[in-house]
Amino acid sequence: MAKIFCIANQKGGVGKTTTTVNLAAGLARVGQRVLMVDMDPQGNATMGSGVDKRQLALTVYDVLLESASVQEASVASPCGYRVLGANRELAGAEVELVALEQREKRLKVALAAVDAEYDFVLVDCPPSLSMLTLNGLCSAHGVIVPMQCEYFALEGLSDLVNTIRQVHANLNADLQIIGLLRVMFDPRTTLQQQVSDQLQSHFGDKVFRTVIPRNVRLAEAPSYGLPGVVFDPAAKGSVAFVEFAQEMVERVRSMSGAP
Ligand code: ADP
Ligand code: MG
Repeated sequence: MAKIFCIANQKGGVGKTTTTVNLAAGLARVGQRVLMVDMDPQGNATMGSGVDKRQLALTVYDVLLESASVQEASVASPCGYRVLGANRELAGAEVELVALEQREKRLKVALAAVDAEYDFVLVDCPPSLSMLTLNGLCSAHGVIVPMQCEYFALEGLSDLVNTIRQVHANLNADLQIIGLLRVMFDPRTTLQQQVSDQLQSHFGDKVFRTVIPRNVRLAEAPSYGLPGVVFDPAAKGSVAFVEFAQEMVERVRSMSGAP
């Protein structure tokens, strides 16, 4: 049975895509069967997994509109996991889905067919609380929230928490916040340390033990079309993501099907 996680935060540039592709690569490295779903029309997670979004015959768009199955539309990446990719076409899905029945549950229904084939499905969400993000949240067992430890991060978090509460109450009773992941962390910055402490006292166990440092190798990797974990496994950011993958495997064991 696959565990499905959304990587979400309605802010742009907070590290969602970096987290998605590096967690996918990290989980693959520790022997997990992983499907990465790109729900952002920018297709950064697709390109960052070594899959050319312009060459894809089928994408998550076709899956949402039920003209292809996940099996048909996913491709093997050179990074040890499979990719259900996205490109600009996906931007149109927002409008096309509005007229359809069960429009928030399209991804959930499609993923049910590959449940036995993966241990983890990771969904990279766009920087909005749109129909695409909603499809991600409706399909998931949990949400991973990457965040930078800066002043406004806490403010943005309450909108996301409210959305997750609403989805939990109305659309997906399985949904929970699995955890907050501190990313692009610089321990020398006093403010970041303070916000990090605040997060821990506020959210306790919901803050992942692993901290992802700011690391230039993670930022360089996408220009080579690879996650940092594959591009430079020895870089400290990559090492942290493999540690995070192990922490996720532990969390899933402790979840053991409980809501
Ligand atoms: P999002 O998907 O939330 O928009 P991205 O994952 O694309 O965010 O990250 C935004 C930018 O920050 C990218 O240029 C990315 O390479 C960079 N970045 C992300 N995480 C790190 C990190 N830990 N260290 C350095 N740069 C990072
Ligand atoms: Mg992104």
